[in-house]
Amino acid sequence: MKKIIRIAIIGLLLLIANALLISSAIGNFNEQSVDKNFVKVYIENQDDVDTISNLDLDLDIWEVNQGFLIAMVYDKQIIELKEKGFIVEILYNSEREFLESCFEPVQATSGVSYHSYSSLKTELQNIEDNYTNIAKVYDIGDSWEKTQGIADRDILAIKISDNVTTEEEDEPDILFMGGTHAREWISVEVPFYLAKYLVEHYSTDQKVKQLIDSREIWIVPLVNPDGLEYSRTDNRFWRKNRRDNGDGTFGVDPNRNFGYKWGQQGSSGNSTSNTYRGTAPFSEPETQAIRYLVSTHNFSSSISYHSYSQLILYPWGYTKDAPQHKVQLSKMADDMATEIKKVHGKDYTPEQASDLYIASGDSDDWLYGVYNIAAFTIELRPKTMAEGGFVLPPSQIIPTWKENKPAALYLIEWPQQLDIKSPPIASFSYYPENPIVNETITFNASNSTDPDGTIENYEWDFGDGEKAEEKIVTHSYSSAKNYTVKLTVTDNEGATNSTAEIINIEIEIPIVTTVLVKSPTEASEGENFTATVNVDGVGDLAILMFRLNYNSSVIRLTNVEKGSDIDTSGWSQWLQDSSAGILKVFAFSDSSGSTINGSAELARLEFIAVGNAGNRSVIDIKGILGNSAVEPIEAIWEGSEVTLMPVKN
Ligand SMILES: [Zn+2]
Repeated sequence: MKKIIRIAIIGLLLLIANALLISSAIGNFNEQSVDKNFVKVYIENQDDVDTISNLDLDLDIWEVNQGFLIAMVYDKQIIELKEKGFIVEILYNSEREFLESCFEPVQATSGVSYHSYSSLKTELQNIEDNYTNIAKVYDIGDSWEKTQGIADRDILAIKISDNVTTEEEDEPDILFMGGTHAREWISVEVPFYLAKYLVEHYSTDQKVKQLIDSREIWIVPLVNPDGLEYSRTDNRFWRKNRRDNGDGTFGVDPNRNFGYKWGQQGSSGNSTSNTYRGTAPFSEPETQAIRYLVSTHNFSSSISYHSYSQLILYPWGYTKDAPQHKVQLSKMADDMATEIKKVHGKDYTPEQASDLYIASGDSDDWLYGVYNIAAFTIELRPKTMAEGGFVLPPSQIIPTWKENKPAALYLIEWPQQLDIKSPPIASFSYYPENPIVNETITFNASNSTDPDGTIENYEWDFGDGEKAEEKIVTHSYSSAKNYTVKLTVTDNEGATNSTAEIINIEIEIPIVTTVLVKSPTEASEGENFTATVNVDGVGDLAILMFRLNYNSSVIRLTNVEKGSDIDTSGWSQWLQDSSAGILKVFAFSDSSGSTINGSAELARLEFIAVGNAGNRSVIDIKGILGNSAVEPIEAIWEGSEVTLMPVKN
């Protein structure tokens, strides 16, 4: 009995201690964090996530799940979401309410706790001091507040390698980053414990020694020190750095500020937003520091730690298109997930970053897109907000590090560079060139190429809602307008490329006029016969120019007259010129005169057959027609042929 009472009292004391610690942590929160809500937004599929992130609502999305996502939002944003037809459920009305729900305190009562900037700096320096031969701390840049003289914080990198003070060109460099986002405290701890583990096991663990001797391992545990400190002292859920944007707002999201596809979808131009990308790529001293480090070394792979959700992400973030090394990157992510799961059975889901949601300007896209680095983001514990979200109890720091250790070692061990690979090049042609409504158009993607492989897949989007998936396809349009036809090709490595062309669909075939010579097909030796030049199906004919060729040793031209329709329609201008075998005519209507519509006889030609029976002559015609606006009229020119026959007796 006594024993039970004692346990109950200890339990009660612990509860009180927890409550005291929580309230002291909450007591630090300032006014601006009060009107935030934590909501569950119900979604049906990935398209809904894209819709929500494209709405310009600038939601702070914490978590994407099957059927719902979790976000931190203002009241106004809840209304906007509801207006767009989304079902929104409020989980917590304030940060205080959410923090009170976290059953473990933010600060550890004993044992391991989260680092501040200064405790981290001290411990990194201790590592260097204790392991001078294999560890060295480098200052790779100032935080924004340091550039302003507000605070004294550096971006610190610790290099771990044999011959640590020299850059050994033949050793692959591997980069680990953490603490890019202020509130993601656990993301500082995992790379820190990695550094500590490596140096402490150099003399006792053969594998660790071999890795340190053959690699240059760079660890930047805290990319955003100003942000971390602000999250510790003022606003637990602060994400960005602490730049004063000059408009009453603070902070740029470092992970939207990197200079590859900067400023595209999945980042915000609004300085109040938690995903504010800044005024230019690398506008922030924190991202400049990483740029400096990466540009002065030869990294082959990297992990940037973030939290939470338990994910292993690989490029691209800015597009749903697959990266050229999709097969390789996804295998590495799968392997790391397997390694992690072996430790405590925790699931870390491997996926392309954009499958979570589109984000542009992040570090992975830049590392991979510019430097061909196998760049991963690992979103650490926990998996859900229900388990605390960003507020991971300190008792989970070491378990989180331990399960991530084999994945980090896997990446350090992976010695290769990603192969230099070429993406496919999409290209297509179509016929006819000037298609009309309901006409069958053939689209041909045979010109698409892949410099180092084969194209495996063709995807057509005809711009009218119709799609197809063959190399050569036919399609027709039911109404006349401009359509954007897009072709996406995928190569055997899973890399894609797209091209698009605007196709103008005309209403109907432009009127094609026919000009033809009508003559008898046969004429007797010495016989006079008449041929006429006729036009068919013409509209607004005002200018006529033709040249007639015939064989003057078979037939001879004896007379030329205006055609009956030209005579009566005010075509006063008529010029002709003939020599043996050739007749040239140039005629046009008076400016006041009428033009010709429909069918008409244009010229009347008298011939005499001068050759012998069996001779033939083609009467060939070529020319130009014009309308009253002096524009050409398209025409087909058709000659005729006369064969001479013996005179009948
Ligand atoms: Zn993050």
